[in-house]
Amino acid sequence: MEKLGLRRDIDLALHLPMRYEDETRLVPIASLRDGDTAQVEGTVNHAEVQIRGRRQLVARLADDEGDELVLRFLHFFPSHQKALSEGHRVRVRGEARGGFFGLEMVHPAFKVVDEATPLAAALTPVYPSSAALPQAYLRRAVASGLQRADLGEIIPAALLPQGMSTLREALRFLHQPAPEVSLQALENHSHPAWQRLKFEELLAQQLSQLQAKQERALQVAPAFKLARRGLQDPLQERLLAALPFGLTNAQRRVGDEIATDLQLPVPMNRLLQGDVGSGKTVVAALAAAIAIQNGWQCALMAPTEILAEQHFRKLVTWLEPLNIGVAWLTGSRKGKGRRAMLEMVASGKAGLVVGTHAVIQADVQFAKLGLAIIDEQHRFGVAQRLALRSKLEELTPPGTQALEPHLLMMSATPIPRTLAMTVFADLDISTIDELPPGRTPIVTKVFSLSKRDAVIARLRDDAVQGRQTYWVCPLIEESEHLDLQNATATHAYLADALQGHSVGLLHGRMKPAEKAQVMAAFTSGQTSVLVSTTVIEVGVDVPNASLMVIEHAERFGLSQLHQLRGRVGRGAAASVCVLLYGGPLSSTGKARLKAMAETNDGFEIARRDLEIRGPGEFLGARQSGAQLLRFADLTEDLEMVHVARAAAEVMLRDHRSAAERHVVRWLGSKAEYLKA
Ligand code: ADP
Ligand code: MG
Repeated sequence: MEKLGLRRDIDLALHLPMRYEDETRLVPIASLRDGDTAQVEGTVNHAEVQIRGRRQLVARLADDEGDELVLRFLHFFPSHQKALSEGHRVRVRGEARGGFFGLEMVHPAFKVVDEATPLAAALTPVYPSSAALPQAYLRRAVASGLQRADLGEIIPAALLPQGMSTLREALRFLHQPAPEVSLQALENHSHPAWQRLKFEELLAQQLSQLQAKQERALQVAPAFKLARRGLQDPLQERLLAALPFGLTNAQRRVGDEIATDLQLPVPMNRLLQGDVGSGKTVVAALAAAIAIQNGWQCALMAPTEILAEQHFRKLVTWLEPLNIGVAWLTGSRKGKGRRAMLEMVASGKAGLVVGTHAVIQADVQFAKLGLAIIDEQHRFGVAQRLALRSKLEELTPPGTQALEPHLLMMSATPIPRTLAMTVFADLDISTIDELPPGRTPIVTKVFSLSKRDAVIARLRDDAVQGRQTYWVCPLIEESEHLDLQNATATHAYLADALQGHSVGLLHGRMKPAEKAQVMAAFTSGQTSVLVSTTVIEVGVDVPNASLMVIEHAERFGLSQLHQLRGRVGRGAAASVCVLLYGGPLSSTGKARLKAMAETNDGFEIARRDLEIRGPGEFLGARQSGAQLLRFADLTEDLEMVHVARAAAEVMLRDHRSAAERHVVRWLGSKAEYLKA
């Protein structure tokens, strides 16, 4: 029960059936069809233990019309034999199967009865449970939890959508529905009682998020000043002047949104979303410049070493000429180099600290951390985001007023509107909806793997013309070893087929220094083709690469494919993405490849991904907010999400204590997770 989260009476009362069994009626045996699940009653006219390969108990039941049904038990106890002995009247429930000896039920539920034993008055609930917890026990526990729990109305009547029953009525009904109710309306959650429960749940979720947002608003962050143009020579302006390009309108707009947040004495909690290649890095650098100009430090975290290193290189070339120290921390950097970096961070000499998770390790002491930026935030799970948040709290120097750093998250996987409003409702969102000029759209082609050699011929032509190719080998599930073997074999094959051109190999088992070397050779154009496992997935930026080949594309997720494709199309040359698939394709595999071929738009991809996978999976990490929604469905109940949102705002403003009681009733200890 503890594992199922059933601790309090109210938890039990809110533990609703996933389906029902109808034990309110008896069915004549003559009307049973193969595959029917039904309840019948009759008298045992024969029972014996047979040995047919294995010992089994076989009983024959005849109902009042004289029609017969065989009951078969492959596992049984003496108590079964006793109950099913000749002459006993029994009521059995199970699935009828047209067996060799006529209709039979294997392992039906049964009990000994007499003519007067009443039938169930309500449908019998079947609860989500675990193997270790028998339904009968759970049913009794839920029934008594329902009796004891305080089910008084908390939500002010004026905030409830019209025509909803009270919580108590809805729960009573859902736990013990009357027999004449449509099973279908109950099980597909369209019944009005379910509507009440969904509303309750969505309201709790919206409330807890608005609360989190309000709590955050009470925290204090350093308010940065923006130098007015002409008065000084602010870092941002100098950085802009030094860039080899001008900002797009979208970059300028999101830059302003971020700058506005940074001037407030409340911690920013903003997500910067923009399709792959839309130029998020420079926006991050401009935000960092504001913090540094004000005498604070900025930390930039990326999910992989390759990406962290790439950011580091780019940012060093942008910032060092402006006299800003940039430090660089990763898990693999140890010893003297690491100590020197830690010293730069602690003394404040490093204005910007770039790295992987290593940036928030216990031994990293910042002099004055004012802004934390997380790149590719969707790669960090909920648990990691919670850890980060608590790490940021503890980074506040002792003795000073508890100042929180501002937080900027970046992602190329846009959050669909429904999720933005629910699971991420306490997040402010900035969107780059425009690519830098001069990009030619990527053309995506889908071929069967039998075309592999034809694709390699195309690669050769490209290499001759000085263009570069990524060749991505798929992840082989749960076998890093096979992955590696596969990538190595592909590398050898391509190197042989493309003699005269240099082919590189990159995989997860290589040491960071080796990886860096391979990447450098590719970035400089020395290598024509880079064979790789999915380590290049995020963020890598080599504008001269114009062909992306993905082998066994059907094994990748949609957003992953889109990320990979985004590695090309970064320069002026027309780029192509070739998706090679091995058949036969599953229907979701087909849907993913179709989506890739039909659109380049990251938002559309995200929408289709949500459609194909459902919100829980979309969020990736297991303990995601979406999965905490047990009854409401973010795709189906969108309209109700809006209603709950509006109600939550009013409730938090005008009925504060009721709001708190409602959150506790619904979420108990889970409330923390919803805030991540
Ligand atoms: P992402 O949003 O995927 O992180 P990056 O920040 O890596 O994108 O930028 C992709 C490429 O576009 C980089 O080479 C970057 O220098 C370049 N870039 C960014 N902004 C502009 C711009 N306004 N004009 C031209 N090129 C730009
Ligand atoms: Mg990026």
